[in-house]
Order: sequence, then C-alpha cells, then structure tokens
Amino acid sequence: MKAFFKLLGMLLIFVAGYITGVLWLARQFEKADEYLGEKDDDEPEPSTGISERNMTSPETTAVAKVFITAKGTKYHRQNCRRLGEGRIETSLESAREKYAPCTVCSPTA
Ligand SMILES: [Zn+2]
Repeated sequence: MKAFFKLLGMLLIFVAGYITGVLWLARQFEKADEYLGEKDDDEPEPSTGISERNMTSPETTAVAKVFITAKGTKYHRQNCRRLGEGRIETSLESAREKYAPCTVCSPTA
C-alpha cells in the first residue's frame, strides 16, 4: 500500500509540475505577444490638427419654397398643420417681404 501512495504522490508532483510548466510557457508566449504588440504600436499616432469638427454642414433644410394662404399673414412649410386649403406656393424670399414665419413650422429654422 505504501508503494501506491508513493506512486500517487509522484503522479501529483508530475501533474503539478506539468501544469506549472504549461502555465509558465503560456506566460512566456503572452510576454512575447505583448512585446510584438508594442513593436507594432510603435508608429506615432496621426495627430491631426483638425480634431475640431466645426465644419459640420449647416442645416440645409432651409426651405426655398414656402406656402402662404390668401387670408393668412404667415408663411409655412408644406407640411404645416396650420396650413389649410387654398395654399399658395411662393418663394421664401418673397414671402419674407410680406409675411411672418409661422411659429408652428418655423420655415426659417
Ligand atoms: Zn406653419
């Protein structure tokens, strides 16, 4: 029976040593990967001076065509809910001269 425990102990030591060795090897590979990774990242970051994105295109929804009504005093977008029947299409430029922008659809926004 003593021989069995001796064998078992040797087996445990062998397994423990094997696992330790595998882990050690894995760590070496990890280190190697890190080292290579650092080398890959050696290139300097492209630092562009145009990080400020102020060049965003302005709202191009400025309507060229607006709608007025015969009796109304304001001009509207096409889909305004206050724009009833008898709408008259006109240009924003000419509408501005005689009418005020609708506060609901705000054609100038
Ligand atoms: Zn409106």
